[in-house]
Amino acid sequence: MSDCLFCKIVAGEVPATVVHETDHTLAFRDIAPKAPVHVLVIPREHHPDLAALAAADPGLGGQVLAAVAAVAEAEGLAADGYRTMFNTGRNAGQEVFHVHAHLLGGAPLGPMLAI
Ligand code: AMP
Repeated sequence: MSDCLFCKIVAGEVPATVVHETDHTLAFRDIAPKAPVHVLVIPREHHPDLAALAAADPGLGGQVLAAVAAVAEAEGLAADGYRTMFNTGRNAGQEVFHVHAHLLGGAPLGPMLAI
């Protein structure tokens, strides 16, 4: 997808602080972190959101989840815990339509939602 920001990060056309990569996934630090550790984990292949990824390639979804766990371990979050979120669509405030897991941790994160 030529106009997708995260595809451009995968292609190396937009810089990012990459913390983990596999043949099929990439993990990089969020540019506007909401927690001491805030990493985005994406499939290299473009899928707009979680539903599209699950429909097209659930195995790749599993690889994204495995990468989340690997990054959490590498970032020292596993012992105290962390939060993983996929925003999907307008009500969730999704801004980038290339599916991504938010991995948040490094401090107590408070209540799950503030509506
Ligand atoms: P979402 O609202 O779930 O679509 O999340 C998109 C996330 O991408 C936000 O947390 C942004 O801060 C983050 N973001 C936007 N541009 C970049 C970038 N160039 N590098 C890293 N993270 C970014």
